Amino acid sequence: TTTPLKVAVTGAAGQIGYSLLFRLASGSLLGDRPIELRLLEIEPALKTLEGVVMELDDCAFPHLAGIEIGHEADKIFDGVNLALLVGARPRGPGMERGDLLSANGAIFTAQGKALNSVAADDVRIGVTGNPANTNALIAMTNAPDIPKERFSALTRLDHNRAISQLAAKTGAAVTDIKKMTIWGNHSATQYPDLFHAEVKGKNAAELVNDQGWLENDFIPTVAKRGAAIIEARGSSSAASAASATVDAARDWLLGSAKDDWVSMAVVSDGSYGVPEGLISSFPVTTKDGDWEIVQGLEIDDFSRGKIDASTAELAEERDAVKELGLI
Ligand code: NDP
Repeated sequence: TTTPLKVAVTGAAGQIGYSLLFRLASGSLLGDRPIELRLLEIEPALKTLEGVVMELDDCAFPHLAGIEIGHEADKIFDGVNLALLVGARPRGPGMERGDLLSANGAIFTAQGKALNSVAADDVRIGVTGNPANTNALIAMTNAPDIPKERFSALTRLDHNRAISQLAAKTGAAVTDIKKMTIWGNHSATQYPDLFHAEVKGKNAAELVNDQGWLENDFIPTVAKRGAAIIEARGSSSAASAASATVDAARDWLLGSAKDDWVSMAVVSDGSYGVPEGLISSFPVTTKDGDWEIVQGLEIDDFSRGKIDASTAELAEERDAVKELGLI
């Protein structure tokens, strides 16, 4: 189709935005199909955002059909088909967990309500801003008229990091690796699972055959990669987060590859013992904007413990925002 897809991005003047907008506009999301960008920022960041828009203009992207910017969610989200919620309140010095949850709670409550009233009927919402799973839960709960399946939080970066680490370990190409799974929360408790992943059709855990590497190297490397990049680069992993945000949205809208799956944090229906209603990462297949949790995978004791620990953390975050009256 040639009707532009209306894509909202929040926190558009931030570091992730600086990478993300150019990828979206150049066709990484939808190829030839035109898109219209709706960029939300807080008022003090609008001037910076105007500069970014000047650069977008200067790229003369053939498939960028229009750009609107503003600080009012009701206006920016009007009629959007896809909302990428990137802007979030970073943890400042001396900020307690509760302060962070309530600052973000206010943002995602308001954005959930705005999406509920003005977004297009087919809207899909992807949350990148941290704490992503719980921010998605807050937005979802505050948007009662939008089906719950339309919300997801980003664990695709963790998924991509896990693929890259496994490829390096086995000497395979990233394209040889299928069926990677991230379970749980996008946090240090996430569980990247090699027991169902495949390298050139062979089971990854069996091929590697090194539980020590898996536990003491692979899992912590994937889970703490963000901190390692800050340490090396002096600045956060914004470009890879933007790339993963595009990957996740593209596969959600256009479908995951045959004989493969992706990781997405979506509302749990109780699959694999994950408490119903939590936004937790699962292996999913996607098609035409819908997702389905891959069923029937065997979960051994090691994996069970890891999944339970991460979902327990999600339940704690949910209880904390419930106590704050945000959901
Ligand atoms: P970034 O663009 O670097 O990051 C934005 C969010 O993405 C943060 O919550 C960050 O989490 C999260 N994130 C997820 N994955 C990653 C990753 N791999 N690497 C880095 N970040 C990741 O933040 P900036 O501060 O540069 O920009 C944020 C923008 O959002 C600002 O321009 C601000 O004005 C805006 N903002 C907009 C709001 C709104 O639209 N209503 C509300 C609040 C802010 P983490 O903090 O854990 O790194």
